[in-house]
Parts: sequence; C-alpha cells; structure tokens
Amino acid sequence: MQVFHDKDELREQLAEWRQAGEHIAIVPTMGNLHAGHISLVNVARENAERVVVTVFVNPTQFGEGEDFDSYPRTFEKDTRKLKTVTADALFAPDVDTVYPFGQDNATRVIVPGLTEHLCGSFRPGHFDGVTTVVARLFALVQPDIAVFGQKDYQQQLVIRRMVDDLNLPVRIVTAPTVREDDGLAMSSRNSYLSEEERERAPALYQSLLGIEQALRGGAADFEGLEVRATKQLEKSGFSPDYVAIRRASDLSPRQRRGGTLRRHIHRSARDRPSTPASSDATPRHRGMTAR
Ligand code: AMP
Repeated sequence: MQVFHDKDELREQLAEWRQAGEHIAIVPTMGNLHAGHISLVNVARENAERVVVTVFVNPTQFGEGEDFDSYPRTFEKDTRKLKTVTADALFAPDVDTVYPFGQDNATRVIVPGLTEHLCGSFRPGHFDGVTTVVARLFALVQPDIAVFGQKDYQQQLVIRRMVDDLNLPVRIVTAPTVREDDGLAMSSRNSYLSEEERERAPALYQSLLGIEQALRGGAADFEGLEVRATKQLEKSGFSPDYVAIRRASDLSPRQRRGGTLRRHIHRSARDRPSTPASSDATPRHRGMTAR
C-alpha cells in the first residue's frame, strides 16, 4: 500500500490506474481505524480494482465546543492496519491541501432540507462541513465509487442527495454497521467512554432492537414507541437528543401507515459526563439507525 500526503503524487498514481482501465473506490475516514472502517475497505474492494482510503480529520464538520482538538489521531497505527488489508493507497492530506484558500474562504457545498433535522438540528453546520469535505475529496481523488457506513445513516443520505443534485459521476455504496459482540456499534469515539459507561452503552442497541421488533410485529403508534424508548434510555443513564422513527428514503416523519414503508429508527444521545454515550451516538451525538 502506498501512502500519499501530496495530491499531485496521488494524482500521478491515479492516472496510471485509470489508464489501465481500473476503477477507483474511495473510503473517506477521519482515522483511528477500527473493524467498521476495515469492512468498508473490503466492500470497496468488491466494487473496484483500486481502493483509496483517506484519513483527514476535517475541521469544518466540528462545531464550537466539539472534540476537534482531542479527536484521536493514530496515523502510524492506521497505516499499519491498512497494510494488512487490501487498500492500495492511503491519502492523508493536510488542511492546506483540502482548503487551499483557508477554511473561511472555502467554497462550500450545502444540502438544504435533509440536513436541517435529526442530527442536523443538534449539530448546526455539521453536515455542511461533511458535504464540503466529501465534495473536495471527490474532486481530489475522482473516484468511481465511494463507500460510507450505514451507522451514519443521515450522513450517507445527505451525500447521496449531493451526488444526485450535482450529477457527480460517483456511485455511492452504503455498508452495514459493524458492532462489538455486545451490540455496541464500533466508533472511534468509543474510546471516550469510561469503563462504567462502556458497560451501559449496549442498552442503546437493545432499545433499537426493541423498536424494530415492535414495528415488525405491526406496532403503529410510532410516537408511543419513541416516548417509551426515550424513557427507557433515560433510565439506563442516557440523555437522548431524540428518538425518531423515520422513512428510510428521505427521513420524513410517517404520515400514515404504508405497506411498503421501510423504517429506520434514529436515535442520538447527547454527551453527558455520567452518561454512556454509545457508538451509535457517541459524545456529541452521532445519529445512527438500525433496520
Ligand atoms: P469516521 O472515521 O467516523 O468519519 O467514519 C468513516 C466512515 O466509516 C463513515 O462512512 C462511517 O459511517 C463509517 N463507519 C464508522 N463506524 C462504522 C461501523 N461501526 N460500521 C460500519 N461503518 C462505520
């Protein structure tokens, strides 16, 4: 696996691969790689001859008071991990490469609507930072395929919308959530949990499974399910931002029970010192879904 920090050197290699008729997949990450990220690399490999993993802790998607400075940066370990899997290139640009005119002067990509509720309403500007950096990584790597995790369900929908709306020639693939044995979704931010919080964290997944089971059993009182799940989570020491059952295709609230409705359960828990944030909803609430 080759490691690139320089965009021109990366582009030389990409051009070679393209000339040989090979397709290129990108897996954008913020590093501190775990088995969830590696599963994305494997999905990328199934979809393209060449896989480029990017590691970039993107400052524009962190809000005031969020964990940009303390976000775990483990580049050497990440490189070693990626060498044991089937990635062809690791691209780790610096901030000036991604934002050559500075963050304040950067051209931004904003997806209205979809970004304004659920996680978007608790993390103002977060998705604008995500779409802005993903558009830049797409421009730098010009991939045929991009792989994102279902764990960040709202995020992959927002990126799909951006790609559709801008007619970007990239196919988005969404890969399933990888969990620890006790059901906790893997996340770089799980390292923030204390031992006691970590023990309590799987309650989030249990709660999701409970809602899923109720829905599959025909439960129609979505609001009742949301309220009950919120109370259950609070009892387990969480401080949920929201529990919302939404339409999978566009996250709209259900109007009436429809036979073909696919349901995604969204939940997010706010950081609180005594609260087990889960990997589904790690400190500063990352939304998650279960199907
Ligand atoms: P991050 O490094 O947290 O920005 O995540 C990079 C990519 O990995 C995103 O597309 C995430 O949705 C995905 N991802 C993170 N955790 C998991 C997981 N446990 N299972 C599958 N994908 C994941």
